[in-house]
Amino acid sequence: MDPYELIMKKRDGGELSSREVKYMVEGFTDGEIPDYQMAAWLMAVWFKGMTGPERAIFTRSMVDTGVTLSYPRIEEKLVDKHSTGGVGDGASLALVPLVASFGVKIPMMSGRGLGHTGGTLDKLESINGFQVEFSEAEINRLLDRTGALIMGQTGEVAPADKKMYALRDVTATVDSIDLIAGSIMSKKIAEGMDALILDVKTGAGAFMKEYEDAVELARAMIEIGVELGKQMGALITDMEQPLGKLVGNGLEMKQAVEIVRGEGPEDLTELVCYLGAEMLLMADKFDRFEAALEAAQKRIKTGQAADKLAEIVAAQSGDPEFVENTELFPKHDDEFVVRAVEDGFVGGLNAYQVGMAAKALGAGRETMESQLDYGAGVILEKKLGDPVEAGEPLAVLCYNEALSEKGLKIDLETAKERIDNAYEIVGEKPRKRKLIHARLDAAGQLEEF
Ligand code: URA
Repeated sequence: MDPYELIMKKRDGGELSSREVKYMVEGFTDGEIPDYQMAAWLMAVWFKGMTGPERAIFTRSMVDTGVTLSYPRIEEKLVDKHSTGGVGDGASLALVPLVASFGVKIPMMSGRGLGHTGGTLDKLESINGFQVEFSEAEINRLLDRTGALIMGQTGEVAPADKKMYALRDVTATVDSIDLIAGSIMSKKIAEGMDALILDVKTGAGAFMKEYEDAVELARAMIEIGVELGKQMGALITDMEQPLGKLVGNGLEMKQAVEIVRGEGPEDLTELVCYLGAEMLLMADKFDRFEAALEAAQKRIKTGQAADKLAEIVAAQSGDPEFVENTELFPKHDDEFVVRAVEDGFVGGLNAYQVGMAAKALGAGRETMESQLDYGAGVILEKKLGDPVEAGEPLAVLCYNEALSEKGLKIDLETAKERIDNAYEIVGEKPRKRKLIHARLDAAGQLEEF
């Protein structure tokens, strides 16, 4: 096969055969197809798109360049959730223990934060000793013992995706629904789950700013999963403003502890319960959504989800005392309070700007090598629709100035500017934004709320 001809075929809007797609993925991973030809092919995909069968074989081919985890000792269905990412989205941290407390098995493979979005692994590592790297045998042991774990991606999972993502990043081909869907699903398929609920975000802090694009991405991922034999579903949820009240690694982990104790912020708690209900249905623990939702909401009030979180933390070598006493989470020595300059209501709170403010304070990464401050972040005192008076705090910027002497980049002025840009104060109370916009089933049928 000749990469030149396959680039031309895609450029002209043709559909590649399974052999041809596989050849592009394998050839690029092995180094037989050079970066410049792969970049041209990716750009052709960006413009012309892929058909459903092309996307499925593209994903399968990427999975086959690495290992797929297997769980020979686990008989139950393995259920997982994936979020396309956002700001303050610590849902997994509370969701995993909540759903695992019902006896559901969850092998969640998560990522690290980059740019304006946070990463589940970074948030968990704000707990002393918490480990995320495991061998396949250890993963099996942990699943058997506690029923759930949250782990990092091993080097052998979908290496084609890793190499291709690096190339997409420098060739303006990241924002293609076909390529994003294949990339995300390749890692989830390699993780070895049986059922997956997708949380596809839409709004200022999301990958997919427009609702229609979020639905299209959800449909593409569902179709790939179903084609590859997985049980699938999706929620389209809001990421216009950050979730919860705390943004930053230790702050979000602390907020997750509050959620599993039934003391968390309303929006993130609601999202966790909705996603939890979807997972409980997938795991056949309930047959009606309403019953599953009610059970999830009740469970966080009983303390069982908090106990499960402590168990997972201990099993992954973390200090379970953090779940008992949130005072143990990393602290900040310095604060700056951003205040309202006029009376009114919060009419806009841009999640992207808040994420960038947290990053400027040391809570996020510029590159994968950047240092992190687990105590840094933003406390949101006011959220969309809240009334404000001139002089009242809108947000508190949390940081540790002393860490700048140890090489951490802190830019307080940029953080202040970002928060000023994030908030919009209006004269009239704005209409409440929906948190959960829609649900898609395995057939891609859309139900709007
Ligand atoms: N996340 C991924 O894993 N891949 C993409 O292409 C985009 C977001």
